[in-house]
Amino acid sequence: MNFDSYADLGVAAAAELVNHLTEGWAQGALRPLPQSGPQRARLAAATEAAIWGRGSALGGPEAEELILLAERLRAVFASLAAGDADRTAHLVNSLLREYRAAPQLATHDGEPWHLHFHSQDREVGRVEARGATCAVALATVIGSGWSSRLGTCAAERCDLVFVDTSRNGSRRFCSLRCLNRDKVARFRSRHPDGALGEGQLPGSPLSH
Ligand SMILES: [Zn+2]
Ligand SMILES: [Zn+2]
Repeated sequence: MNFDSYADLGVAAAAELVNHLTEGWAQGALRPLPQSGPQRARLAAATEAAIWGRGSALGGPEAEELILLAERLRAVFASLAAGDADRTAHLVNSLLREYRAAPQLATHDGEPWHLHFHSQDREVGRVEARGATCAVALATVIGSGWSSRLGTCAAERCDLVFVDTSRNGSRRFCSLRCLNRDKVARFRSRHPDGALGEGQLPGSPLSH
């Protein structure tokens, strides 16, 4: 399913930033951020390059700005997960304002005219542009009635986020791994005394 091509890229980028640059739980394990500045800068630069392609590396201050952006995007997903539509809208509107979202058609590097979400002012920094792109994409998806497609994993000890592009929009987990962890956890809670043998798992481990 496509929201629209630019919003697709932007919400996918937002989810990647949240999953790689905020602290939390990932598939049953703690997911800490590194403490040292150089390590944080390397992680932020690698994440930025993985999402948007290789360019010049992010500098240290920009790396911290990107981590801050990821935290703010995390707050949007958390607010959606809590079902708080008013707070979600407020958070997204703040992002739109503060990252100076200003959709403009642009052409550069021999590309045809295409939509940029961020201000075309020369002094706009890279992270500010990334933030504007994510904010407009989130606003587009939420404002089109697709909030439920911006999900947070329902498994215990996992708060990875995802964009649900499934046909029926019923995705609840970040991965098959968490789907299966959840299945095992629920089986165990129903059978507190029983040993968990291979043959006792409900359904095939990889089935939905
Ligand atoms: Zn462009
Ligand atoms: Zn998960």
